[in-house]
Amino acid sequence: MKIARFSSPDEDPRFGVVDGEDLVVLAGDPMFAGYETTGERVPMRGVKILAPVIPRSKVIGIGLNYYDHADEMGQEAPEFPVVFLKPNTTVIGPGDAIQIPPVEGRIDLEGELAVVIGSIAKKVRAEDYADVVFGYTIANDVTARTVQESDGQWTRAKSYDTFCPLGPYIETEFDWTDARITSRVDGEVLQRETTQQMIHKIPELVAYVSDIFTLLPGDVILTGTPSGVGPFRAGQTVEIAIEGLGSLISTARDRD
Ligand code: MG
Repeated sequence: MKIARFSSPDEDPRFGVVDGEDLVVLAGDPMFAGYETTGERVPMRGVKILAPVIPRSKVIGIGLNYYDHADEMGQEAPEFPVVFLKPNTTVIGPGDAIQIPPVEGRIDLEGELAVVIGSIAKKVRAEDYADVVFGYTIANDVTARTVQESDGQWTRAKSYDTFCPLGPYIETEFDWTDARITSRVDGEVLQRETTQQMIHKIPELVAYVSDIFTLLPGDVILTGTPSGVGPFRAGQTVEIAIEGLGSLISTARDRD
């Protein structure tokens, strides 16, 4: 099932199940209220599709989690997951603009499979990971690469407002084991690799991060980016596509 979050003019955001070109409107947030519908259907082209979730407490990033990407960054494949955080204020929806801050050097895209947590999760065993996963979506872990290298710590480079496009919807039934991720800037392919190349797999990631901190419903884990990360600039269009999850398109402009 594909779950979208959307807004119509003069209405608060609502949730809907994607059904062809329409949304079947849900009575509440399905993460908390289930799938009861209002009986209303709205055409998708008449609404604005929003980020499918606003992480309640945190976006967890996993660094260097694809063999070829660790290699291109000049790093060994890490024995344990490299964990960092992005604030939930980085999240924007499909079609929204990534605002490029006035910092030195490169701003890179990182196309990633995102795991949306559906229940309070603490010390989850890897074999039980599916019990706490609500679904999957697409993320762009936008990174100020030159800042990342000069700071040493990754927080500033990963945390500017708008640096986490998410969407376009959450797929609740998704086979993450071998899905192709393709990233493009103005139509030119930068990344094309399958999630098979992930070093630390999703069950292990859920176990590892839920042993550090409690995960709340709506928290999001970005599972790392394949090789081919590359720059974009204001005026360009960035697209991250994952087989089975659709396509997440963002524009880019200089920050106000
Ligand atoms: Mg990343």
